[in-house]
Amino acid sequence: MEAKVKVNGLSFVPYLKRDEIERQVKRVAAELRQDLEGKEPLFLCVLNGAFIFAADLIREVGINECKINFVRYSSYSGTSSTGKVKEIMGLTEDIEGKDVVIIEDIVDTGLTAEMMMEDLRSRKPRSIKFVTLLHKPESSKTGFKPDYAAFEIPPKFIIGYGLDLDGKVRNLSDIYVIDED
Ligand code: 5GP
Repeated sequence: MEAKVKVNGLSFVPYLKRDEIERQVKRVAAELRQDLEGKEPLFLCVLNGAFIFAADLIREVGINECKINFVRYSSYSGTSSTGKVKEIMGLTEDIEGKDVVIIEDIVDTGLTAEMMMEDLRSRKPRSIKFVTLLHKPESSKTGFKPDYAAFEIPPKFIIGYGLDLDGKVRNLSDIYVIDED
């Protein structure tokens, strides 16, 4: 683990080490395995940030009958007064009647999660569960609560293990927090 990571002129210090991440991924995977028993779930990995978490989690859950889709959002200015509208891209499976599990990197305000849940619910899946690597409950603007979270953290900016700063540092095996000193 690097003592400090510098990127775009900002400094980050170690926060969650690889072995602690592994432990929590295993815990969440065990809960999912139990809750999904007898089902053929469709995992939706939300790009880009969740790709490393999803790869570790899905292998640990170990359900061979599962399917995996990769989705992302595109934002565009809507014609209505609500302004910004987001849409889900890359959903190639028909999810009607399916047991869907969303895999996200981080829930901050919860706005993205709410938008995604609303869109997916309209497609009539049998069930939807929401898994996140990180949850910042104090940042919530929506009251959205993920069904599973590997970690609950304070509202500080973090990077690594898939999470980026300006598209960089997703490769880091550990999670780092911004150095406020
Ligand atoms: P929300 O809609 O919950 O406010 O934001 C969710 C998205 O904001 C995440 O998927 C992620 O892309 C970004 N985000 C929120 N907090 C952080 C953070 O601490 N670090 C990084 N790298 N991205 C974050």
